[in-house]
Parts: sequence; structure tokens; C-alpha cells
Amino acid sequence: MSIELTDFTTVVGDTAVAEFSATAEAVTEAVRQIELEHPGFSHSYSTLIRCNAWACSQYMDIEVGRGHNNAGAEAYAAHRAERVDARLAEWFPQQRDEELGN
Ligand SMILES: [Zn+2]
Repeated sequence: MSIELTDFTTVVGDTAVAEFSATAEAVTEAVRQIELEHPGFSHSYSTLIRCNAWACSQYMDIEVGRGHNNAGAEAYAAHRAERVDARLAEWFPQQRDEELGN
């Protein structure tokens, strides 16, 4: 699964986008790591998916029915995006401090 450039705006936030060129490599690396660490999902029930990563195993409720044929993949993409965001926060704690005015 590839993540389009527009998705990075959601992942890293507006402030970080201003420094996007400097962090693009880090974002790419974070996405690569998260895709390895969270390799896919399984359906536990029709309305519930679970991350296949043993160390994660997070359950996620999904919508079903008309217009929600891709709900599982969308929920899992959001799950990965959250993890990428968390990974970048680990790598760039100083940026977070500056945003808070510290
Ligand atoms: Zn996961």
C-alpha cells in the first residue's frame, strides 16, 4: 500500500508541513517501518477487524453495508497513520515542544 503525498499533511500536521522537505526522508522511513510492523488486518466479525501484528493486535470497529465496502482498509490505513504520527513524535520531540511554546 502506498500513501499519497496529500496523506502526509494529515500524518504530520500543518506546522511540520512547513518543514516538509527536511522531514520527508523521516516520514518515508516511518511509513516503511509502520508498514512492516503493522503488516495487515483480519476480520474478527463483519463489523470488527484486528491488526495482524502480534505486538499490536488492536481491534477496530468498522462500518458495513452500502458505501462501506472499503471500510476495513480505510480503518486500517487510519490505524497505520496514527502509528506513523506517533513514531514521528518520538523522533521529533523538540518540534512538539516548540508548538507548545516551550
Ligand atoms: Zn497495528
